[in-house]
Amino acid sequence: MTVPKYFRPDMERRLDGLDELARDCSYSWAHGADEIWRELDAEFWEQTRNPWLVLQTVSRARLEDLSKNEAFCEKLRVIVSAHRQALSEQRWFQAKQQQDIALQKIAYFSMEFGLSEALPIYSGGLGLLAGDHLKAANDLGLPLVGVGLLYQKGYFRQAFDADGNQIALYPASETSDMPISPVRINRGEWLRIQLVTPSRLWVRVWQAQIGRIKLYLLDTNDPANHPVDRCITAELYGGGSEYRLSQEILLGIGGWQVLQALGITPDVCHLNEGHAALLVLERARHFMRAHNVDFATALTVTRAGNLFTTHTSVEAGFDRFSPDLIKNSLGLYARELNLDLGGLLALGRIPGNNDVAAPFNMAYLAIRGSAAVNGVSRLHAEVSRDIFNPLFPGWPRYEVPITHVTNGVHVPAWDSMEADELWTNLCGKSRWFCEPEHLAKQFHRVGDQALWHLRARNRSRLVQFVRDEYSRELNVHSNLSDSEVEDLALRLFDPNVLTIGFARRFATYKRPNLLLTNPDRLARLLTDPHRPMQLVISGKAHPADLPGQRLIKDWNQFMRRPEIRNHAIFLSDYDMITAEYLVQGVDLWINTPRRPWEACGTSGMKILVNGGLNLSELDGWWAEAYRPEVGWALDGHEGEHTDADQADRLYQLLEQEIVPAFYERNGNGIPERWLSKMRESMTTLTPFYSANRMVREYTDRFYLPLAEKYQRRTVNGAQAGRSLSRWLSRLNDLWPKIHIARVNIENREAVYFFSLQIYLGDLTAQDVRVELFAEPIEGDRDNIHEMHIDHALPGAVNGFVYTISIPAKRPISDYTPRIIPSHPDAGIPAEAQAILWVK
Ligand SMILES: *Cc1c(COP(=O)(O)O)cnc(C)c1O
Repeated sequence: MTVPKYFRPDMERRLDGLDELARDCSYSWAHGADEIWRELDAEFWEQTRNPWLVLQTVSRARLEDLSKNEAFCEKLRVIVSAHRQALSEQRWFQAKQQQDIALQKIAYFSMEFGLSEALPIYSGGLGLLAGDHLKAANDLGLPLVGVGLLYQKGYFRQAFDADGNQIALYPASETSDMPISPVRINRGEWLRIQLVTPSRLWVRVWQAQIGRIKLYLLDTNDPANHPVDRCITAELYGGGSEYRLSQEILLGIGGWQVLQALGITPDVCHLNEGHAALLVLERARHFMRAHNVDFATALTVTRAGNLFTTHTSVEAGFDRFSPDLIKNSLGLYARELNLDLGGLLALGRIPGNNDVAAPFNMAYLAIRGSAAVNGVSRLHAEVSRDIFNPLFPGWPRYEVPITHVTNGVHVPAWDSMEADELWTNLCGKSRWFCEPEHLAKQFHRVGDQALWHLRARNRSRLVQFVRDEYSRELNVHSNLSDSEVEDLALRLFDPNVLTIGFARRFATYKRPNLLLTNPDRLARLLTDPHRPMQLVISGKAHPADLPGQRLIKDWNQFMRRPEIRNHAIFLSDYDMITAEYLVQGVDLWINTPRRPWEACGTSGMKILVNGGLNLSELDGWWAEAYRPEVGWALDGHEGEHTDADQADRLYQLLEQEIVPAFYERNGNGIPERWLSKMRESMTTLTPFYSANRMVREYTDRFYLPLAEKYQRRTVNGAQAGRSLSRWLSRLNDLWPKIHIARVNIENREAVYFFSLQIYLGDLTAQDVRVELFAEPIEGDRDNIHEMHIDHALPGAVNGFVYTISIPAKRPISDYTPRIIPSHPDAGIPAEAQAILWVK
């Protein structure tokens, strides 16, 4: 790490650790050092929340002064030593390491990371989730590294014109302003790798520090590159599909090469969305070289250590590239895998799709290259099993091997100072370092007054923020004096009024305008003289999404109505700082996506710890979390079919339940009904919908078992992996020869008897499993029965009679025998999709 150049040795000694603190993104939730940055430059700190920038910008004289200030230096020493201790403490994962486990290193690949506003390399939910994943991995002591891209311009920034239209702006970030440093190797040179696909491309590598976790960021803005190539990492989700593919080559192929260059060999790679799918090819290619095996074997072995998390609920959400583009960008690369173009394309297509124009789907590649796949909520996994069913032809939808890990948020990053205080008082300081499920009991004791006080303080700070933002806009767009601006800002909002809000990407499926369906009815709610509401919203629409931008304009125009102006505001340029104030300050968070298109949704989880309540469509996480005791729900599944029905229900809930619950007070001014929901929501939901629970679930259900599986396939020169790969290829060749000669079904009083004459050809009885299958129904968990060999068929090679008797509980026609592959180490049907139904 480098300290500012003007540090003199004595100053350096006295301010030891200052630069270390400034460059560690853990300041975004561990607020221990805030007072240090405030002392350096309070105003600049509040504006930027970027300690590294504060340290770069503060005057030399100020630092000299502080280095002579005993009290400051002592404070710094205490904070630095606490910080260093936190980096080496034993945490949740260290207890697992006491046992013999295969898992040594996890690499987490993501196109975006939302860690802090100081590092603007995210656009929305996917990035925030990745950021929260790293933060929780730190808290739990996981051996994880992140891999991503460093964008000079990141995602676009948003302003509004006089008519309320969105304007997209692209200010560039200076790398020197961001809390990152070049990765230096060997004798101190900056790590640069040269990627040969599709052009000779220099890639520079940076690192960000998130507590004990390192995030490696790749960047092509190297003067040695062609100007076109320098721009590959300019914008997040900009440009066309060629641009996107270049970025994905960089992330997947380049990302793996960077890890190799650093001597990092992960057991498990976690693909956060399909953008990183090419990683599975590069990991396999590396294995081919190292072990001198063919591509199929390499993929079989390395797949065991890959996990793919899908985040999309609609087909159109997946990255798909034209065959021509794949040929131009990856044609040469395919040769290195000993694949022809057709072989490569097949990895991104549905089996048997012979359409030459069929696009290459990155999610398909990710699924084929991963031993495990998960969606991000229960409902989303169901939807995903539907979407990906075509990759498993013949298999029932519910057997498509996709499970779910419901998302969670990094609670310490989203709680307000006051919430943190309250939770600390009741549950202790290190509550998020271990398993927090027991917190419910401790927190439940919280008193009404303390809860209501928390709401008041959180809400007040949001009101202040809203007024400040409004003043800032007025200063830019109007020609008013400071005192006129102040007067106008003071008229806006009231710290005691029910405050509702939401922020999200403005995309039509999220229906951010459902609440605006009947503007007059909403206006009446906001301006009710006795029980008013105030509304604060924020969000961007992708620059290419015109319908989404129209929704923003409609809101802006509504908010300019004279009677509304002081009761509602649209905050421009939704970012992590705005998000923080919003999720801490609102009493009620509204989310109205069109079910089932919201894969999970996380912003509603961020309000839990702060005592906000949710009113949401029963989609994504809320479909799991909702009970009447914890909030309110719209149900697009039952009853409320049209948008108009749902809007009507939304207004009804506000008018008849929510507003009354907030304003009905007891003798002490406490809204008892409201508080009872608040207590229930805070206590029961916060621990579960946390990234802490999510990362533990990923570890126990995927990282640990996958590392073991990967190890099993690699040890002894990959003996088991080679043999499995041979088995898979033999199975493919020989499967079509299986045939059924005779089926006998008898209904014998209370039992059904099935018997099959099966000729397996060159396969043996060990290679298959014969089953009797019925569609699962409510109350019958026991819908698959294994059939067993009764006797070998005389005069046959691998010919057997399989039989079974089952109790006659369901109609006999419900049952169909089938044959599927069987191997102790293969995932079925993840790795072998053959299936033969005996109809
Ligand atoms: C949490 C968050 C999101 C994602 O919210 P969803 O509800 O998952 O869509 C997007 N942007 C910012 C700035 C956030 O903080």
